[in-house]
Amino acid sequence: MAKSRLTFYGGINEIGGNKFLLEDGSSRIFLDFGKNFGREKQYFDEPWITPRKEEHLLALGILPNLDRIYKKDAAGSPGVDAVLLTHPHTDHYDSIRWLRNDIPAHMTATTRAVILAREFSGSTGPSKDYHIGDWTKEGGQQVYRPMETLQPAKPIRVAGLETTAFQVDHSVLGSVGYVVETSAGNVAYTGDFRLHGTRGDDTRKFLQKAAEHEPAALLIEGTHVTESKIESEEEVERKVTKVVEDTRGLVVAGFAPADMDRLSTFHKAAVATDRTLIMTEKQAFMLHQLTSQGLFGDFDLKSKNVLIFRKERARSARYLDLLQDTYGGKVVEARDVRGLQERAILVAGLPDMLAMPEIDPAPGSVYILSSSEPFNEEMEISYDKLMEWLTRYGLPVFQVHASGHATAHDLRQAVETIRPKQVFLVHTDRPALYARFLEKLGFNTVKPIEGTPYPV
Ligand SMILES: [Zn+2]
Repeated sequence: MAKSRLTFYGGINEIGGNKFLLEDGSSRIFLDFGKNFGREKQYFDEPWITPRKEEHLLALGILPNLDRIYKKDAAGSPGVDAVLLTHPHTDHYDSIRWLRNDIPAHMTATTRAVILAREFSGSTGPSKDYHIGDWTKEGGQQVYRPMETLQPAKPIRVAGLETTAFQVDHSVLGSVGYVVETSAGNVAYTGDFRLHGTRGDDTRKFLQKAAEHEPAALLIEGTHVTESKIESEEEVERKVTKVVEDTRGLVVAGFAPADMDRLSTFHKAAVATDRTLIMTEKQAFMLHQLTSQGLFGDFDLKSKNVLIFRKERARSARYLDLLQDTYGGKVVEARDVRGLQERAILVAGLPDMLAMPEIDPAPGSVYILSSSEPFNEEMEISYDKLMEWLTRYGLPVFQVHASGHATAHDLRQAVETIRPKQVFLVHTDRPALYARFLEKLGFNTVKPIEGTPYPV
């Protein structure tokens, strides 16, 4: 048996559900431990039928069947030493909730804040035993499992292996790639990344740093190997501003709730067109958590041109109380939106369409759909149902988006910069095409098979 090896348990031949086990001697580290939306969707349909405990996912072969890593199997020392998380998209982290609490997860402070903002504002999910964090009776925020924060570009030792995270640009803040030094050579992992975003230079620096480590193995995503589009966040800002300028009534906009860059872009468009950005409560709570910890500074909830939309709901929740207590004057309801719709951009996805009857969008109102990430990355939009609502209220749709994922040219640039001995193709539903593309450029590629160990 090779001393150092990689075994893939999801996130291969598919987008999302990344769970890559890196072993070196007695050290065992998971690179990401994400929810596999594609496979879970085959069996589950929230909220009607959802996995309640790890056995439900183990029985279906969705979670890897490994000893002493799950909560149900808590005796003795843990079967893996740690998890390294690249970024706070659920398909990269969410299944850590099934893991024993004595298996620490390492991540950036921003990734931690985004994950916890989701936990503290979440409404569904499995029972309390599997919560990552929750409110205390006194209204405090309690974290149940070790969520160790690391500094980008500062090497740390994880399970005895020198490990460095480097910031990369992606459609969520806090994203990093990793270089882990093993006895058989260095392993680099991109996580999800792009070069065309506002922080593309971070990604370029990571590629350079990874190259300096002369990796034996590179694990690289390939989400857009058949869907490359030339686009940028600046272009999104320009186009959104143009659409808003030309709109007579209300502008309604939908995009990934954790994408703070996109929120910032819509805020800029609101300022430029003298409108007010009315965001959802979940977005407001995430923005609050990030700005109050100094992790995001583009704008905050006290800024001009910002309001929070209070959704009608059966009962309150702690995070809503916090918003009300802290930003009470900024909270508006459907009837308020109705009154200021010619001067507003309202962020609203399918779950917010319940407000449409009361808002009653004025003639000339439009919808801006600013999200096309693979559905199994976050699964926030149910396109068909949203279209029924937009049809009902006569809202035509403008699509304006820049993806979180690298184009094929940028994937090539990444591999040509790093020049690894082996390239493991992950987070792609077209590994064969991706492999052929890179092989013709002279690279040694691996299309991993689930559960098969590969020497580093
Ligand atoms: Zn992602």
